[in-house]
Amino acid sequence: MKTIRADLHSHFETQSQFSRPFNAYVDLISARLGENGIVALVNFGDDRFEKFCARRDGYDREFVDSDRSICYLPQKKIFIIRGQEVPTSDGHLLFLCGKHGLDIKPHKPLEYTLLEAMDSNSITIAPHPFSYKGIGAKLMNHLLLLDNIDALEIHNGESVLPNWNKKAIEFYAKIHEFYKNVGALSVSDAHSLSGIATSFSELSFPNEDMFKNMTKENIATAIRSSLPGNSQKTSKYYNAVKHIAKLLGIKSGIL
Ligand SMILES: [Zn+2]
Repeated sequence: MKTIRADLHSHFETQSQFSRPFNAYVDLISARLGENGIVALVNFGDDRFEKFCARRDGYDREFVDSDRSICYLPQKKIFIIRGQEVPTSDGHLLFLCGKHGLDIKPHKPLEYTLLEAMDSNSITIAPHPFSYKGIGAKLMNHLLLLDNIDALEIHNGESVLPNWNKKAIEFYAKIHEFYKNVGALSVSDAHSLSGIATSFSELSFPNEDMFKNMTKENIATAIRSSLPGNSQKTSKYYNAVKHIAKLLGIKSGIL
């Protein structure tokens, strides 16, 4: 068994403009995730993953899959994979790898978007399921939809209220016995350089050879068996609020 670190939901910047040199992003990711680390660069109504990988500056890179969704940087031994966050009428859904493109229609019912995920052979994640744009409420009422979900985010670093992540962990604990193939991920959901890979999950792969021939299937298998405990959880807002409360002399028991 070989364990690596993965932050599978990160936008790098608020928009698809990258203000820093290519290597500034990669060096930070490499320092935080280490060898064979995986970061998902998530498009949101744009093509920031494609733009980032097509930049002319920085380290060498190569796509290792026919969908051009897994980009490997041999000098740093880091994988950057393509993600896309799609707003459905029931909340957001996160696609990883596969053939998905920008033509996925937003604001459709979750069932419809899950079919698109299946058609494009993408990995599907329920991002921040119990935040105000999460699909948690829909999943609770339609548990069979979990058959088509590879993992729940049980920690999202951008969740404003700690209760949102707590609810996600509780929901995961309830369904785990019946849906053993749904993983539990911790992600940063970073919108700036400093936040990338501040939260991550540890994913297990059967052997080191897998990293030489990384495939979507191998990543999907590792995601489905991810567990809540094997992760680093950092909360941008929660920590900020806790810090302010301390400065004001408020006991943080309420937080
Ligand atoms: Zn996001």
